[in-house]
Amino acid sequence: MPNSKTTTCQINATRLYSSLETLGQIGRYTDAETGLQGVCRLALSAEDGEGRRLVLSWMRELGLEVTVDRIGNVYARRSGLRPDLAPVMVGSHIDSVPTAGRFDGCLGVLGGLEIVRTLNERGTETQRPVVVAFFTDEEGCRFGTDMLGSAVATGRLALEQAYDLRDREGLRLGDELEKIGFLGQADEKVAAPYAYLECHVEQGPILGAKRVDIGVVTGVQAISWQALTILGKSAHAGATPMNLRADAGLAASRINVQLRAMIASGEYGEMRATMGCIAPQPGLVNIVPGRVEATVDLRNPSDLHMRKSEQDLLAFYEQVQSEEKVEIRWRQTARTEAVAFSPSLQQRIAEAAQGAGLSHQPIIAGAGHDAQEFARICPSAMVFVPGEYDGISHNPREFSTQQQCANGIHVMFEVLLQLANEIAF
Ligand SMILES: [Zn+2]
Repeated sequence: MPNSKTTTCQINATRLYSSLETLGQIGRYTDAETGLQGVCRLALSAEDGEGRRLVLSWMRELGLEVTVDRIGNVYARRSGLRPDLAPVMVGSHIDSVPTAGRFDGCLGVLGGLEIVRTLNERGTETQRPVVVAFFTDEEGCRFGTDMLGSAVATGRLALEQAYDLRDREGLRLGDELEKIGFLGQADEKVAAPYAYLECHVEQGPILGAKRVDIGVVTGVQAISWQALTILGKSAHAGATPMNLRADAGLAASRINVQLRAMIASGEYGEMRATMGCIAPQPGLVNIVPGRVEATVDLRNPSDLHMRKSEQDLLAFYEQVQSEEKVEIRWRQTARTEAVAFSPSLQQRIAEAAQGAGLSHQPIIAGAGHDAQEFARICPSAMVFVPGEYDGISHNPREFSTQQQCANGIHVMFEVLLQLANEIAF
């Protein structure tokens, strides 16, 4: 059915969608449970190599000048009338989690190429160069560090440190990069772009539930991960009196319930907390667990609230240790500060959406994205598009419609065109 919103759309929605489908064929598998087609293109796997080569071929077809840097990030440049000016960069990633759909990351990259295709077709020249980029191992599933390529490019992570990361099989990242043919020559430190833009699927239910077309991303939440080992004493479930137990399982449960109570208290702002792994040992019906391995995932848009929640949680560990006669060992496995995106770019995104008759609202990013790395070196912003099925992502059911994808890239196109034609921000 024709949608009045499409009349102002600057980009070719069908062509964009079909490029997403074509890339989604690489690393495809059939999900045994649902029969749906999923995508598995783990970073630096053979499938990632194949996906990369396909996208590179499209970049070259568009006449872009392609550069591969020493961490395997790929930059495709369309020259400007003033090639001396810093480029406007559009980017994201094409690696995936093991059970992915075809939109996460790919929309941002292939959307960038669709923008270039549109500029080429119309013979539109811009003052500034336009660069479409994809970054190595955004997902972090294989080597344990997410936003790896963009973190190296923007100086948060040292190149040698990144090369020496190993996957579960002990394979070294630097070697794997070479194996798929993407150990490039270019300096891994990227020169600061004029601005960085990224379009991404929301990966959450908010926009879809409200039928909002465009999420204007305000920033990325602070993330804090802990790995816990709780040591108690294994004991017979029938023979050991309750007052003589050191139940590691109970201690883990108390921490989980405490997290929920902290959220309910309202003292920690927009805190989110998850214990995604709670593994009691020996894990048998009639044995008090003597040991639990567990994880804690904390998210918060405010660094202040995040720090308070971390401090109070550690104090609670002390309390549980003494009350339950257990030992709680913890280590930080990930920690990133909250990132605020450029207010000026957010405003432009909202205006571009408005101009196209698209509904929009501010939204915080729940997951990590390459844009947060670029926010350290240049004005950066993100556009979210809604996903169907409650915005499920990292799952074969991940799905955004052709219209939803096109809406997001249209907004990017409008903002990019403004930025690429101005001399000063
Ligand atoms: Zn992503």
